[in-house]
Amino acid sequence: MDQVNKEELMKLVEKARPYSTNGKLIDYIPALRTENIDDLAISIYFLDGSFYYAGDYLKPFTLQSISKVIALAYVLIEHGEEQVFSKVGMEPTGDPFNSIAKLETNKPNKPLNPMINAGALAVTNLIIGKNLEDKWNRFASFVGKLTKSPISYNQTVSNSEFETAFLNRSLCYFLKQYGYVQGDIEDLLALYTRQCATEMNCKDLARVGAVFSNDGCDPNTGECYIPKNIARICKTFMVTCGMYNASGEFAIKVGIPAKSGVSGGIMGSVPGKCGIGIYGPSLNEIGNSIAGIKLLEMLCEKYDWSIF
Ligand code: GLU
Repeated sequence: MDQVNKEELMKLVEKARPYSTNGKLIDYIPALRTENIDDLAISIYFLDGSFYYAGDYLKPFTLQSISKVIALAYVLIEHGEEQVFSKVGMEPTGDPFNSIAKLETNKPNKPLNPMINAGALAVTNLIIGKNLEDKWNRFASFVGKLTKSPISYNQTVSNSEFETAFLNRSLCYFLKQYGYVQGDIEDLLALYTRQCATEMNCKDLARVGAVFSNDGCDPNTGECYIPKNIARICKTFMVTCGMYNASGEFAIKVGIPAKSGVSGGIMGSVPGKCGIGIYGPSLNEIGNSIAGIKLLEMLCEKYDWSIF
């Protein structure tokens, strides 16, 4: 399909890899400071079931903000659009992902969208369950349906973030003050840091991207886990806000729905065609994988995958 082959992918990865030297590892989550800055891997999962990879595509990494797309799909299924969008908006922001500024200035103090931390915390707060374990297990079993493999979280990374997430705590208290978040903030932070520490490899991530590309349905079995309309909403957020405050430039240079995380992962979803999973932990100043973006740029140009 589209003449992608392993050798070509390997060449693209080797062309993109040197860009890693221009970036930096994420430093505000201590456990992520020890990643290998030169790592770069990709998997592509086509909807006909064919699968390509280059680099260490089986190396596990934590999803970080990529988990925000999956959590959004999950709570939209559980609660419906009306309730979810009473807690979080639909507009992009020009601010960094962890900014508190617009929560104060943008009345009625509602987080602008579910892809920035404030919005994602409001979304995670909607995950139903008796307690932390129950909420995590429900979320993990949903993720496991999309990957078709059991899902766990990296406890070291989750603890490391939990212990240092003072900014996210501030966002939560701000949101609680205005009624966009309910309940105990430490419990919410514990669930959110687990969700962000959800671990998978590029192959799994490409498969999740493929489910979104396939309107929420499994590319192999046809079974649908996400209603088409919800998959559409998630892909739209990926286009407008998925690459932080560089989403506009990414739309022009790459042009596919995608979501990045500060671990260096990127999930791409080319509608009706394939899912893409990338891992490259060297980040640019915005927080996106520097070599990962280069790789996507070359790939999408070569195969003409821009949706625009
Ligand atoms: N767990 C990270 C945080 O909340 C996720 C950020 C990201 O990947 O953008 O800061």
